[in-house]
Amino acid sequence: MSKTICIDPGHWPGSVNCAPDKSYWEYEFTWDMYTRLKPLFEKQGFAVVGTPTEQENPSLTARATVSNKAGADLFLSIHSNAVSGGWMSPKGFVAYTSSGPETAERNRAAVNILNAVHEAGITLFGTGKPYHALFTVLTATTAPAVLLECGFHTNRDEVALLKNEVYRDRLASAIVTGVLGYFGVEPKDPESGPPDQPSFWASTAWSNACAKGIFDGSDPQGPLTREQAALVLDRLGLV
Ligand SMILES: [Zn+2]
Repeated sequence: MSKTICIDPGHWPGSVNCAPDKSYWEYEFTWDMYTRLKPLFEKQGFAVVGTPTEQENPSLTARATVSNKAGADLFLSIHSNAVSGGWMSPKGFVAYTSSGPETAERNRAAVNILNAVHEAGITLFGTGKPYHALFTVLTATTAPAVLLECGFHTNRDEVALLKNEVYRDRLASAIVTGVLGYFGVEPKDPESGPPDQPSFWASTAWSNACAKGIFDGSDPQGPLTREQAALVLDRLGLV
């Protein structure tokens, strides 16, 4: 039986949450992350249920109900964080669950995600451990539930990352890696994956290499010629 993940893009159009200069809207980010996470999870053999399937802009309770009806094995609510008062904001990725103890499934899931996010080179907020809050989507769900604040859109540096497609891919692949770790599942490399996409196991490395200009982002699965290898080594300053 494949596991079912319920993904909740935390906000819908009409949500007022945005960066102080209105260059970034949380609802756009959460929907975009949903569209990145869904195929990644499906390639790993998970069934994915999204909270938007039930109604256009479900209430918090309705989102939990979607997960409960689907019998989800894990519920993930996707957000970005904010503090009021302009750009005066910390930065970092935070995972919330409803409460302790550390051994609870929700906290094991959160720790696995936080560790994978950290390993992907993404800054964690504060202690780097799960934080606790009695958010409705965390308390009304029967599945282990984790709410992910993927960074602060009220921090100038971090909102620039949150707007970046390569960074979004990195976040998505790190979250999936963490969930695979939680379920104790080895990542599957989908052979049938499209040639214009990197393999799952290489997606973080590929994103990092493209962000640093080592590759131009095209043809991730193409063979490397000797002259291209020389170019890569030259860009790395190794020749
Ligand atoms: Zn939010």
